[in-house]
Amino acid sequence: MSPIAISALMDKLGVPASAYTGGTLAARSPISNETTGNVPCDTLDEVDAKIASAHKAFLGWRTVPAPVRGELVRLLGEALRKHKDDLGLLVTIEAGKILSEGLGEVQEMIDICDFAVGMSRQLYGLTMPSERPGHAMREVWQPLGVVGIISAFNFPVAVWAWNAALALVCGDSIIWKPSEKTPLTAIATHAIFESVAKKFEHAPQGLSQLLMGRADIGERLVGSHHVPLISATGSTRMGLSVGPKVAARFGKTILELGGNNACIVTPSADLDMGMRAIAFGAVGTAGQRCTTMRRLIVHTSVYATLVPKLLKAYASVNIGDPRNASTLMGPLIDQASADAMQAALTAARAEGGTVHGGERIERSGGAFVTPALVEMPGQTNVVKTETFAPILYVMKYDTLDEAIHTLRDVPQGLSSSILTTDMREAERFLSATGSDCGIANINMGTAGAEIGGAFGGEKETGGGRESGSDSWKAYMRRQTQTINYSNAMPLAQGVSFDVG
Ligand code: NAD
Repeated sequence: MSPIAISALMDKLGVPASAYTGGTLAARSPISNETTGNVPCDTLDEVDAKIASAHKAFLGWRTVPAPVRGELVRLLGEALRKHKDDLGLLVTIEAGKILSEGLGEVQEMIDICDFAVGMSRQLYGLTMPSERPGHAMREVWQPLGVVGIISAFNFPVAVWAWNAALALVCGDSIIWKPSEKTPLTAIATHAIFESVAKKFEHAPQGLSQLLMGRADIGERLVGSHHVPLISATGSTRMGLSVGPKVAARFGKTILELGGNNACIVTPSADLDMGMRAIAFGAVGTAGQRCTTMRRLIVHTSVYATLVPKLLKAYASVNIGDPRNASTLMGPLIDQASADAMQAALTAARAEGGTVHGGERIERSGGAFVTPALVEMPGQTNVVKTETFAPILYVMKYDTLDEAIHTLRDVPQGLSSSILTTDMREAERFLSATGSDCGIANINMGTAGAEIGGAFGGEKETGGGRESGSDSWKAYMRRQTQTINYSNAMPLAQGVSFDVG
């Protein structure tokens, strides 16, 4: 494996060594487990000071016209285009995903910037007819305040961009607590933002803040009354802590939590095409996408054809250094993740499963594994649990009702898909009695969403929506305005109240 030349890369991204050396938070590359930095962490007092500074910035930013705010996001998108190769490589080095996915993640940042620039001229409200003569009514969307962004290791920069681009055009300031497992990508991304904001005369100082540290730093952010919206991406365990704390102070949340995504393979499925969708869905990003395909519900009539095809495809997956163009699967994020995978496979065996693959590969310090396909007799406890690793549980079904019941019978509700060429089956899957997930796909896998649609899921996935469609509304405050332009003072509902 070639050495990881972190300082040259950080230099190209405009990050001084002082930003990622001499501190107490060790940054590591999962490729070789070597230390890539020692990042200085914030103290809790520093967190408070950064929140105060973001709040001050908000007071100025909310008065800048939205299309002008959009111009800052346009410039951010331009800077990301310029740095795409370097930042994409850094994502690969720090999160372990293959280079085309690292680059794809930066492309997603660029895409959401483009989307948000357009949005900055479309923060539409409504007008309503008033029942009172000489009155006008309208609904207006106002900037909200400081938006706290907590992100997970597996999309170390795209999730920030999804939130940041929309929050900024909505007139909010932002404060980001990235995963402690991917601090360098956050530092580099923030340096890119700062270089753009510095040159943009309308951007107040402190408009975007970066917090470095572990969960305690995130907890401080979550508890702050000066942060009206917390957008938190990560495990359901984290959401269970964050959600109630923000609710207790009547703050708002966007929760993007764990998934347990399933694909139904019907008798009419195009199996060659489906096999490719399943392989990317289950093995891509080494099973570390929130939308990774974790359950395959296969009709009994195609089971014996599909499973050997999949096993053959699994055997051909090139596992190794994610920087190499021929690699399809990189390492898991750390050894703890590999241990969790082994524990899940042990549980699956105990619950009647037959495990294919899932072995550890000894290689240069990284937590490399082969992807696992596990034939299960039914949807047991381990199948209902999200294990953040490349494990695909395969189960049989006889009727579509049964398959849909299995799909829905888990605590999570992020992504789902069906492989079918039967229009009735497809429409049933998309109906109110079909998939109960935030994302429902036909003849595709469960992973790989585009930024144009609202992204998120139901049940333990948290119910949040971010990115496309009208997700921007979560970053704003809705106000109903009524204007009396008459000389009278009529009351609604015919109420009379004559005084004087
Ligand atoms: P994690 O929950 O361990 O950490 C996520 C972030 O939350 C980190 O920044 C962490 O420091 C912070 N955090 C943890 N506990 C906290 C607390 N009590 N208060 C405040 N902040 C806290 O998740 P991870 O291992 O980095 O990521 C994997 C998980 O994220 C998986 O469950 C995956 O499904 C989920 N995920 C979901 C989505 C989605 O959009 N639904 C996207 C990506 C990842």
